[in-house]
Amino acid sequence: MAVYIKTEEEIELIRESGVILGKAHAEVAKLIAPGVTTKELDKVAEEFIRDNGGIPSFKGYSGFPATLCVSPNEQVVHGMPTDEPLKDGDILSVDCGVFYKGFHSDSAYTYAVGEVAPEVLRLMEETKNSLYKGIEQAVAGNRIGDVGFAIQHYVESKGYSVVRELVGHGVGKQLHEDPQVPNYGRRGQGTKLKEGVVLAIEPMINLGKKEVVHESDGWTIRTRDRKASVHFEHTVAVMKGQADVLTTFEFIEQALSEKNG
Ligand code: MG
Ligand code: MG
Repeated sequence: MAVYIKTEEEIELIRESGVILGKAHAEVAKLIAPGVTTKELDKVAEEFIRDNGGIPSFKGYSGFPATLCVSPNEQVVHGMPTDEPLKDGDILSVDCGVFYKGFHSDSAYTYAVGEVAPEVLRLMEETKNSLYKGIEQAVAGNRIGDVGFAIQHYVESKGYSVVRELVGHGVGKQLHEDPQVPNYGRRGQGTKLKEGVVLAIEPMINLGKKEVVHESDGWTIRTRDRKASVHFEHTVAVMKGQADVLTTFEFIEQALSEKNG
């Protein structure tokens, strides 16, 4: 297993990629509302990324047809854009990657569409919190299991469950590199983290049970019990003392606060 250590220059390129990605996410965030289709969102994201000199990382990856993975409600990840309009009360996970100057960045955010049930809003909030619990552990000298343990411990204490079949990953010249980064684990177990390792940390957290099933389209993964699932993701560089978060939700959250203003 090859875990690549990135140079400072490479980490800066991933951060540049992450800025384009964060702004592309924000363009999507501005449009999310009942009646909008996920194909419309996908078109806007692709145009924004290409206009800014990037390439959508997911389009064509293992044959995936789109720029965004869009996964509403009980869909966990890898949903494909459709002509189906979003409905009031839906949630929508949007996952996107950008390839820029030789490096990928990868991040995901889950949105409320109109008025969403309070228990689902809480799941969204706590899943985002769990992402930062994981990021806190992504420091040199810790192990992969410390990241997963922190996420799992946090969300299970709230009564939620952690998807096992899908995990975070190294990211860099390739969209998916070693090591795998599960959202569950044991403290002190797994690969030791070194300064300069870049990881996509991405909790996928279910309101109900942890089990998931593959839909017959070959891509979409949903919860078996059809309860909601939420996904947040950042690309981070492992550092001494504190991880360096290379993707950003700043533009998304600015767009959301202006929209809800
Ligand atoms: Mg992703
Ligand atoms: Mg990822």
